[in-house]
Amino acid sequence: MTSQTTAPRIAIVGAGIIGLAHAVAALDAGYRVTVIEQDAAAVTASVRNFGHVGASVQAGELGELAQESLPIWLGLAQRAGVVARRAGTLVVARSAAETAVLEEVVAERSPEGAELLRGSAVAAKLQLRSGSDAAAAIRAGLLLPADITADPRTAVARIAAWVAGHERGEVQFATTVHAVHTGVVETSRGRIAADHVIVAAGHLIGRLFPAQAEAAEVRECALQMARVRAPHRLGRGPAVLTGTSMLRYSRFAGPAADALRAELTRERPELAEIEANVMFTQQEDGTLLVGDSHAAHLTAPPFLDERWSQILLDEVAALLGAPQLEVLERWQGLYATSADGDILRASPAPGVSIVTLTTGVGMTVGLGLGARTIAAL
Ligand SMILES: Cc1cc2nc3c(=O)[nH]c(=O)nc-3n(C[C@H](O)[C@H](O)[C@H](O)COP(=O)(O)OP(=O)(O)OC[C@H]3O[C@@H](n4cnc5c(N)ncnc54)[C@H](O)[C@@H]3O)c2cc1C
Repeated sequence: MTSQTTAPRIAIVGAGIIGLAHAVAALDAGYRVTVIEQDAAAVTASVRNFGHVGASVQAGELGELAQESLPIWLGLAQRAGVVARRAGTLVVARSAAETAVLEEVVAERSPEGAELLRGSAVAAKLQLRSGSDAAAAIRAGLLLPADITADPRTAVARIAAWVAGHERGEVQFATTVHAVHTGVVETSRGRIAADHVIVAAGHLIGRLFPAQAEAAEVRECALQMARVRAPHRLGRGPAVLTGTSMLRYSRFAGPAADALRAELTRERPELAEIEANVMFTQQEDGTLLVGDSHAAHLTAPPFLDERWSQILLDEVAALLGAPQLEVLERWQGLYATSADGDILRASPAPGVSIVTLTTGVGMTVGLGLGARTIAAL
């Protein structure tokens, strides 16, 4: 690319992980970059998640993007001070049907480095007392060592600071984009000229491009989350997934997962009702990010149903052999979802690209997605 001042400019709408993924890739490719974010700091999906970069549980295009994302996360840990470590993922099986899913994955489509563990080894990784009910309930586990746990509270802020500190980068916070046309972005602080515009507005994409969002059937998926104190020392171990997680991630899809879905729907209707993905990540301060439920809406109501929260908390408490968990914070997360596909890519005008992930794996695949978009420009 040419000199710093004549390099083409890319304007990016949104300072969530998808927008910043594009910003990092564009700066690395030699472009000038302006990120425009309506809030004073990104506070939506990219800070409300588990920070689980679960590459090993993805398959297909998402699996490829996830693999491409892993080294970029580790690079950002070095370059931008992002807190991200290869903690791995531990998928816990507590029934015959769940164990069958893990065995099927290992036999037919094993992720690299995957290790099937006996129940006692899984219980030891969760620091459960040998002989306790919680330890005895665990039948098997799948350890996936490649996956990363990031700190979602600080990750996008640190990447944004890195972009802002780059000689060809800038980030304009508290600036709302009203309209995007070829070569120009109209904002609440005036017009910004750009050779290319990338719109990474997450679940808010319909506010800027309603026709594209409606055509792709974009909805808001609302999730209930909590941060809890670890009931005993866990030692910053892997992200922990359970049987309900096996129903959500494409790596597990197959006949055994179909059988598990039928069993869970029959025997645990409350988990099916809230579309639970019972899981947690272990953060640097020793707390656990626990979740989550799923409900799709055109516009999500803001209210957190306490019964739903209790179902999730009780599941994690039982897994960890604790009578109950001490909740430190609760919140609702929203991400874009669609029955029409995992990624909404559209070009509403020459030089304008919409990139919206319409499934809940932006931390896992976003950095790879940004790199691919920029490479294709
Ligand atoms: C509770 C929860 C748990 C999750 N857990 C995980 C997980 O562990 N692992 C994983 O891989 N994924 C997870 N996800 C999914 C992941 O968080 C999302 O896929 C990802 O954060 C989406 O990133 P984004 O940049 O598209 O959206 P966002 O983070 O929502 O960012 C979009 C940004 O665009 C800005 N914006 C929108 N419109 C405008 C405008 N007109 N002008 C200016 N700015 C605008 C918004 O203010 C916002 O900051 C989870 C999501 C939730 C909600």
